[in-house]
Amino acid sequence: MTDLYIDGTWTTPVAGGRRSLHSPADGGLVAEVDEATSADTRAAIHAARHAFDHGPWPSTPARERGALLSRVADLLERDREVFARTESACTGKRLVESEYDVDDSVACLRYFAGIAGTEAGRVIDTGRTDAISRIVYEPIGLCGLITPWNYPLLQATWKVAPALAAGNTFVLKPSEFTPGTAILLIRALEEAGLPGGVANLVLGAGPEAGAPLAEHPDVDMVSFTGGVATGRRLMASAAATVKRVALELGGKNPNVIFADADFETAVDFALTAVFLHSGQVCSAGARLLVEDSLHEEFTAELVRRAERIRLGGPFDPDAETGPLISAAHLAKVEDYVAAGLADGAILRCGGARLDGPGFYYPPTVLDECKQGMRVVREESFGPVLTVERFTSEDEAVQLANDTEYGLAGAVWTQDAGKAQRVAGRLRHGTVWINDYHPYVPQAEWGGFKQSGIGRELGPAGLDEYREIKHIWQNLRPSPQRWFPEH
Ligand code: NAD
Repeated sequence: MTDLYIDGTWTTPVAGGRRSLHSPADGGLVAEVDEATSADTRAAIHAARHAFDHGPWPSTPARERGALLSRVADLLERDREVFARTESACTGKRLVESEYDVDDSVACLRYFAGIAGTEAGRVIDTGRTDAISRIVYEPIGLCGLITPWNYPLLQATWKVAPALAAGNTFVLKPSEFTPGTAILLIRALEEAGLPGGVANLVLGAGPEAGAPLAEHPDVDMVSFTGGVATGRRLMASAAATVKRVALELGGKNPNVIFADADFETAVDFALTAVFLHSGQVCSAGARLLVEDSLHEEFTAELVRRAERIRLGGPFDPDAETGPLISAAHLAKVEDYVAAGLADGAILRCGGARLDGPGFYYPPTVLDECKQGMRVVREESFGPVLTVERFTSEDEAVQLANDTEYGLAGAVWTQDAGKAQRVAGRLRHGTVWINDYHPYVPQAEWGGFKQSGIGRELGPAGLDEYREIKHIWQNLRPSPQRWFPEH
């Protein structure tokens, strides 16, 4: 089996590298895949550049590009179980969660299929009868797409669908831990009839296979989802050639509970907010801010339920959440909990890894946290909830916004006015009221502050992949004589 896809051909790396993928749930061998080096990525860039400059795709009518995305959506639906099983084997997430991810990827493809070609630009009022002017949209060119391991298929689809709808070519570099569904997605694009060279896939480590996508002068844009440190590095590399950058980075998301919230629903959602996918979610509600008068009752009930969450492998029907992605990530989560305890947090549940095999860490609640603590400020990306108290609406907003991140947050109250006031003041890209986690492809997703640059999904998600051109026409050309003839 060859796993790199360059210029419409499945190929092997020039240096012949291979990588073994192991299940985070039990350490078993999942697959062996090709491992690219920068030479392979440069070959993929060359192919994508050629396909953009000389191939049919950028000038294919947008409605036809949308029709191809619809066919890809059909193929994902046909192969739903293969995609879901592959995703679960690589990530360790429960099969049902992977099935939802496939469904969400289908919805994303259908959304961009639907809006492709629905508008051709704008006509501008020039204020003159002898000139017309219009705004048209064009593809950016060659896009480098780099994605993480927590939602591999979904994150790739969020980039691939609008990039193709807008007429770009691309090189996709998925996380080295979870490349399985990226391979399947590219196969679906091939089966749907995408011309060779438009979609290219390189697998491998970030600094080796991914870095050229930010550095190479032939790449016009790099769209990255991942950690903030990597995002900063990519942005700095991209600056050398003034590439467009789109960054979807981390979050340290507040879940604000007022005393008048519906208790049952708020506790239930507070659990899913942070412990879904064992906290490996960029929008995880990892900071619980709870009104002082409700604090003890709310935290006690939350802890009682968190202690009962069952951990297990992706195909264990009794499991309610799964393992962390790697030994290194498990160690990082442990380190954050240790730092929190050293800073004075009170451990209410969890707090110690489970015996192997597999990288399991139980739902953990740290109470009596303060803003200065590292576990409150930095993203653990694990099943770790910090609890803080507030006594007023102003203080809730101040705590919720006191973070370098700004991805998402929620407010729980039965006072509609308060809900809207707080939602309006939160400096986060998505705010849920009496809910947590839902999103739809019609609505933009992205971060304020250091959670990123740009938006995915929604109309702005398509704009990320388009250049705007102004075309002006003089209807009565005649000499202007600004500089008179001498
Ligand atoms: P990561 O930054 O380590 O890796 C992400 C991707 O970047 C991988 O494909 C990796 O190989 C690649 N990469 C690493 N170094 C690179 C380099 N020097 N040049 C080019 N590519 C490089 O992140 P991760 O650990 O895979 O993912 C977890 C992070 O992703 C978390 O911080 C999480 O919050 C974030 N995330 C954000 C969103 C969002 O929508 N905002 C969604 C999912 C995940």
